[in-house]
Amino acid sequence: MSSQKVPVIGLIVPCKNEEPVLPETARTMKSKIDSLVARGMVNSASRIYFIDDGSTDGTWEIICQLAESDSCFQGVKLTRNFGHQFAVYAGLMHAEGDALISIDADLQDDINAIDEMVGCFLKGDEVVYGVRGDRHSDKKLKRWTAALHYWLSGRLGVRTVPHHADFRLLSRQAVTLLGQFRETNLYLRGVVPLLGLPSSQVHYARGPRMAGESKYGFADMFGLSVDGLTSFSILPLRVISLLGLFVFLVSMVFGVWALVAYIVGLTTPLDGWAPTGIPIYLLGGLQILSIGVVGEYIGKTYMEVKSRPTYLIEKTVSKASD
Ligand code: UDP
Ligand code: MG
Repeated sequence: MSSQKVPVIGLIVPCKNEEPVLPETARTMKSKIDSLVARGMVNSASRIYFIDDGSTDGTWEIICQLAESDSCFQGVKLTRNFGHQFAVYAGLMHAEGDALISIDADLQDDINAIDEMVGCFLKGDEVVYGVRGDRHSDKKLKRWTAALHYWLSGRLGVRTVPHHADFRLLSRQAVTLLGQFRETNLYLRGVVPLLGLPSSQVHYARGPRMAGESKYGFADMFGLSVDGLTSFSILPLRVISLLGLFVFLVSMVFGVWALVAYIVGLTTPLDGWAPTGIPIYLLGGLQILSIGVVGEYIGKTYMEVKSRPTYLIEKTVSKASD
């Protein structure tokens, strides 16, 4: 293979408050690039892009130090926190290279899977999905909610690759096509399969976080699962849905209690408040839940119609620009 044919790759690393892990991440990623360059798999012009997604700790200062000391590192600072999906998207739109690989800053994704990803790309795949085979390092709640999410996605007909998060390789063509998707409710795992380009999968075991805390709490996962975006103007609608669900469930519990009371002979079927009260609360809860779901879609439409920029870059840092 002539040196022109050796691809330039870019690693896209979204960072929100990753101060504790970033120096180690940078070292590990740099040595991965070096080893790929040494084996002639990627070009020495390959870069690692750190996207600072509104960090409030010393993340940006570390990124600046790295970028100023080694041209392999580049920094992009977003004006505020736009969320993981948009930090990745911003990085993809900004970075140069024949193939771009998005990977979390905490080294939970197996960096050695990159070798196989690049191998697939060199064989002609335009998209290579990193698929988590072993999730035992994730907390139980996270594994269960993930399983529920993939099950629901499947039921709703959303084409996603199960147990694939945002560790993936995209060719330049895939990135260009992805740039045509300008949705505010960006959910990359759903959008990338829609590109329809030749793809393959690389399986890996997901490890524990190297340091620092997860930025994805239960509420974040719920939000990502519903629409990939948190927005205060949609939040009240979601609260309405939850309220409906709560009322519905409480009335179910009372329903079961009334039934048991009847069976053991405490009440007769038409006794007291139960026969009228329970349906009122049950249906009332269901109605509120339904309005909430409709509201969710209206809220999404509202956000899309405004078509605000999905990310804003405040500044960038690289050795060459100094
Ligand atoms: N992240 C981000 N913006 C956010 C939240 C997270 O850029 O608003 C980054 C974070 O720094 C990390 C990646 O997204 O590199 C995944 O986040 P995390 O490890 O906290 O999520 P988990 O692995 O627990 O799902
Ligand atoms: Mg993580």
